[in-house]
This record gives sequence, structure tokens and C-alpha cells, in this order.
Amino acid sequence: VAEIQSYLAAVVEYSNDAIISKDLTGTVTSWNTGAQRIFGYTADEMIGRSILRLIPPDHLQEEEQILNQIAQDKVVTNFETVRITKDGRRVDVSVTASPIKDMTGRVVGASKVARDITDSKQAEERFRLAIEAAPNAIIMVDQHGQIILVNSQTENFFGYDRAELIAENIDKLVPTRFRGNHANHRVGFFSQPKARSMGVGRDLYGLRKDGTEFPVEIGLNPIQTDEGSFVLAAIIDVTERKRQMEELKNANQSLERSNIELQRFAYVASHDLQTPLRSISGFVQLLQSQYAGQLDKQANDWIRRTVQSTEILQKSIQDLLSYSRVDMQAHPFTRIPFSEVINDAILLLETPIQDSGAEVMYDGLPTVMGDRSQLVQLMQNLIGNALKYRDDTAPRVHVAAVHNGNEWIISVRDNGIGIQPKNYEKIFEIFQRLHNHQEYPGSGIGLAICRRVVHRHGGKIWVESEPGHGSTFYFTIPERMTNPHE
Ligand code: ADP
Repeated sequence: VAEIQSYLAAVVEYSNDAIISKDLTGTVTSWNTGAQRIFGYTADEMIGRSILRLIPPDHLQEEEQILNQIAQDKVVTNFETVRITKDGRRVDVSVTASPIKDMTGRVVGASKVARDITDSKQAEERFRLAIEAAPNAIIMVDQHGQIILVNSQTENFFGYDRAELIAENIDKLVPTRFRGNHANHRVGFFSQPKARSMGVGRDLYGLRKDGTEFPVEIGLNPIQTDEGSFVLAAIIDVTERKRQMEELKNANQSLERSNIELQRFAYVASHDLQTPLRSISGFVQLLQSQYAGQLDKQANDWIRRTVQSTEILQKSIQDLLSYSRVDMQAHPFTRIPFSEVINDAILLLETPIQDSGAEVMYDGLPTVMGDRSQLVQLMQNLIGNALKYRDDTAPRVHVAAVHNGNEWIISVRDNGIGIQPKNYEKIFEIFQRLHNHQEYPGSGIGLAICRRVVHRHGGKIWVESEPGHGSTFYFTIPERMTNPHE
């Protein structure tokens, strides 16, 4: 027995909590080291003295109440209060007091365990401040939809004072037309509580005190406490974001409209320009053939140059037309083995291939989803350029494909004159050329068409080259199982 007693004494002595006993008048009868650590007084200083020394003047009636409870043989548990230390500091403590009885069962005193809860009190205070300072409205609601807690942003958003919201139903903040379902949704939430956003895909609104509404986004978080289940709703006012999105949408729409107008203009203009140009070129050619012998050298030269210029203009207008046709005359996507695309392009390039003694090779090409005639045009332009921009050596063109993530990278490599890095971007712009007509004929639209076709297929296009050692044009084409236009 003595052993158990000394063991218990040690447990009491070395506990982190203050363990104190006192008689019914409040005089301290025992005092452990935990009590010394929390309150600063030694056992000598406290035993035989009144416990009231520890109690702040504004809490004095508390002690009386506790002693009353004890006298009636009742236990007081986790009573949170404040005490004063020897050096005058206030500490937050949680007190549990239970009666001490004599052999006859009479209550003769109380044992008290006091725990220092300053840290957790501070954490609680910090947490409260954080919730208060949150940019969102934060509302805690119980299972019945009753508001338990709101932060100051809730007051700002909804225009109510806190006191007007606490203990009210959350429906006070919900526009009437949503209220009917709200209760059902809440029951649903509590039957399967997990953090989620509310009303995904639906537009949600909050109702202000003045009856106006504002668009919101709401995150819901379940909280389990000793007192039951609650939901913490974090509400964001998305008025500004909605406005910006609307603005962006409008800007996009007007951009799209002006784009379409521009395309139509380019199409109509180039189409209509063809007719008068055709007659100019026809008449000049007539002049050339019918009056050849009757004009002097100078006149013949001017006529020759006029014919040349009309030819260039005709080619440019045709190219411009096919440029605007990429969007104006688009066909739906189908599944096409890419080797067929190359074969069609090679067929169209038969003459320049034969004339230049070129060798065009390809391997490892996939089947893709795309607009067949546009892909043929793309490859015709790229292979055509590879044949055109060459030096004296016979062109060798190699088309290959690699699989990269969920797309294909297709490359067209040549052994031609190459391109300087500073022109890598420029060449894809419309009418941008690096050479004059005498060196290499062309209108500067081919690669602009290529870029447009690639973009329409959801890919990108770029070039890598070493001047004098050939160029490689790359473009990507997404791997699609289904037709995006269906
Ligand atoms: P065009 O061939 O009618 O001039 P493109 O848009 O097809 O128009 O090409 C733009 C420019 O890019 C060309 O003028 C040429 O300078 C350069 N270029 C295109 N392809 C190649 C190539 N394979 N090798 C070297 N330069 C090229």
C-alpha cells in the first residue's frame, strides 16, 4: 500500500497539470510542481493560504460557485477561466474540480486539476482572426440550416449585422427561387459530408438585405465536433469575375465577326479582281502577238514586262484566294492515311520533281483526322518549297513522323539553301519573302496558308535550319479518334 501511495504521489508531483487540493473554505492543502510551474508559487508559499490569491477580482464569484458545486458532491469539468500568477500574469486554464470525502463520505474539500491552455487559446484566437480576415464570406451552419457563426466579410457581402444572422436560417441569404431545393441539398450533403463546391455548373446567387442579388461561388466543408455535424460554407462574390468574362466573351465575338468580315472581304476582293485582270492580261497578250512586228524594241520590252507583271499579279490573287479559302471553304475532317496525302501532293508536283531530278521519300506516317484537300495543299506547299529553294544539287526531300504525347510531329526535311534564324517567324507571315522574283518566283503566301491549315487542325508549325545545309519544317497534328466537327 505504501508503495502504491508513493507511486501515486510521484504521478501527482510530476504531472504537467497543476494538481491542487483545498478544504471547503478554500485553503490550499496540497500543491504539486505542475502548480508551481503554472502559477509561480512554491508549495511552501501556498499550503495553508487561500486559493483566492490565484483568482482575478473579476472572477471571484466563480470560486464560490465551484465550491458550492463541490459541497453538493458534484464534479466540475473543463471549466475554462483565467488565473493570476505570482508575477501578476493572467493565464488561461481549464479546471476540473472534484470533491474529496472523509471516511464517512462527507465532503471535506476539493481536488483541482488546472491545465494551462494559453497556447491553445492563442491558437484559437489566431484562427478566429484568420477567419475574420478571410476575403471570403465564411458561414457555419448546423444540420437544420441554422447559422452558427459568420465572419465580417459575410456582413459586407450580404449587408446584415452579425446579430441579424446568428440563429437565423441560412435561407435568409438565398434568393426565394432557390430555397425549395436548398433544404433537400443540405440533407443530401449531411448524408455524405465531404468537401466540395456547391451547385457545380449552375449559377448561384446570394441575397442581400436590401433584396438585391449577386453571383457567388460556394465551397462546402463538413466539420465534425463534439456538438454535432456542421457545414462551413466559404462564399466568393464573383460579380467582378463574371463581368470580366462577359467582356472577354464580347471582345472575342466582335473579333470573330471582324475576322469573318475580313476573310469575306479578301475572298470577294481577290475573286472580283480576277475578272478585270484577266482582260488586261488578255489584251496585252493580244498586243504582243498581233503587233509584234509593228512596234519598236522599247514598246516590245514594255509589253513583255506588262505581261510578266500581270502574271505575277494573277498568281498572287490566286494564292490570296486559296489563303481565304482555308476558312471559307473548309471541309469536315475524315480519317486519312498521311501517305495518301503525300502521294497526292507528289502527283501535283510531278513537273517540278522531274525537272529538278528530285527524290521525295517518306516513312512511318500515321493515319490522321483532317481536311484532306487542305492537308494535300499543306504538303504541296512544303514539298514545293523544298524543291524550289535549292542550289545546284538535286533536291532530296524526306517526310517523317514521330509520336509525341497525344500528337504527331511531322517533319519535311530538305537539302536546300536554308533559312537564317532571324527569318524563322517572318516567313510564315503573309506576303513575306526572302528573295525577289528573279531569284525565286513566288507570292509569299504559301507558308501563310500552311500555318492556317495547321492551326485549323489544332497544331503548330515552325522551322529549323542551318543556312546552306537545308531546312526542316515541322508541324504537329493532334491524335484524334473522333471528328471534332461532328
Ligand atoms: P513563296 O515561296 O511564294 O515565296 P512561302 O510563304 O512559301 O512563299 O515562303 C516564304 C519564304 O520562306 C520564301 O520566300 C523563302 O525565302 C522561304 N522559304 C520557304 N521554304 C523554304 C525552304 N524549304 N528553304 C529555304 N527557304 C524557304
